[in-house]
Amino acid sequence: MVRGERRRLFIAVAVLVLLGLGLAIRCEAPSGAGGLLPPPAAPQVAGLVPAVYDLDVSLDPASGTLRGESRVEYTNNEEVPLGELYFHLYPNAAAFARDVARPGRLTVHGVRLGEHPARWEARATQLKVALPQPLAPGEKAELTLTWELTVPAYPGRLGENDGIISLGNWYPILAVYDAAGWHLDPYYERGDPFYSEVARYKVRLALPDAYQAAATGNLRAVRNLPGPTKELTWESGLVRDFALAISSDYQALRTRAGEVLVQSYFPKEERDGGRRVLAAGRDALEFFSCIFGSYPYDQFTLAATGFYQGGMEYPNIVFLARQFYGPADADVLEYVAVHETAHQWWYGVVGNNQVEEAWLDEGLAEFSTLLFFEKVRGRTAAGTQSLLSLYAAYRQAEGDGVVLQRLDAFPSDLAYNALVYGKGCLLFIKLREEVGEETRLKIMRTYYQRFAYRTATSRDFIRVAEEVSGRDLSAFFHRWLESAGEK
Ligand SMILES: [Zn+2]
Repeated sequence: MVRGERRRLFIAVAVLVLLGLGLAIRCEAPSGAGGLLPPPAAPQVAGLVPAVYDLDVSLDPASGTLRGESRVEYTNNEEVPLGELYFHLYPNAAAFARDVARPGRLTVHGVRLGEHPARWEARATQLKVALPQPLAPGEKAELTLTWELTVPAYPGRLGENDGIISLGNWYPILAVYDAAGWHLDPYYERGDPFYSEVARYKVRLALPDAYQAAATGNLRAVRNLPGPTKELTWESGLVRDFALAISSDYQALRTRAGEVLVQSYFPKEERDGGRRVLAAGRDALEFFSCIFGSYPYDQFTLAATGFYQGGMEYPNIVFLARQFYGPADADVLEYVAVHETAHQWWYGVVGNNQVEEAWLDEGLAEFSTLLFFEKVRGRTAAGTQSLLSLYAAYRQAEGDGVVLQRLDAFPSDLAYNALVYGKGCLLFIKLREEVGEETRLKIMRTYYQRFAYRTATSRDFIRVAEEVSGRDLSAFFHRWLESAGEK
């Protein structure tokens, strides 16, 4: 995520460093062709059997509700038997019910295990499903969940606002079990409080004919249902989540970045902004594919939503605040689009625990954004400069702070933004100075290849950096990640 309004905190930003290194990346002419896509690629990941989600959902826009049934296949990839499984029910967080005309709610009506009713308990943002006998390593459980979601009237990543329904973190999603056990964090009202593993999705959505939907995955079928209703079907590659943006006002523009279909969805009166977003997404996708490693999916969508906090990343789709689609905010919109596109590599393909190590994807995404503007646009984005200035100001006022800490441990949102984004980005700038441009790039490429579809930790990144550079970087990373200020 990145908050576009931070721009306003630092209007008088420092002098922009203009590095005229434009790579002049160009793309084919727009194809204009939308339509259906082939089945997504199904890469094999050693030692990992991804979960499979099969979602059947119907939307009633008038009441803002979705009825859903999820069939979930979960394979125990761990080395210990599991006595229960957990799902997150993020829409039940207080944030989606406070001071809104229509509070958000995700109500689970039933859970079956195979053919039999399961013992389950839903409490706030957590669903626990007890297994009659422990699931042994390598064994698979098949669950069916029936549920109903009320979309909050709320300008968030989950919510209906300004005629657009944003469905982010909206359905029961498996919690992660790893070496530390189950990760059952609630929804923190800071940063992106999520942690999930890659899975394969098939999603069928029934909705009125007049509505358009942009989503994670490949659109595979459009079918007419009785009445003025249609059913859209998507299938995904290996992705960490599945998000949608839905509106009866949407129009779409399409182009290609190499083989990848790039799509921009926007309300019809925002066509100029939609066009700018399409170009930014295409250029960023080409640039990042070129320098980090290819984008391993068939499509990438940038959707204008009623989300009020700049932008939000999801696999194959990013939400961008519609408020920035006007000409006055062209620069901030491009900056946010590029930052969220970078997350397709950092968070999307290479995952990390965003609750415990937010800097890892945010620092990399912001530094990637800096690279894009340096190399492709020949300038530094004001958004990046604002974050670096925010950190400098924070450091002056507070004497610095620790980057590597849990979301809920930061003393304030300001501290989180300054340290995770500002100091997190500066860390990579300093790493570049430390090891050189070429080695820094090789570190990022190696990290991407080695941890594709997996969850990486700060320790993993440091190990790759040391291996590739052939240097002991422990003091460097300690200083930047764990020290509260001795630079
Ligand atoms: Zn971000």
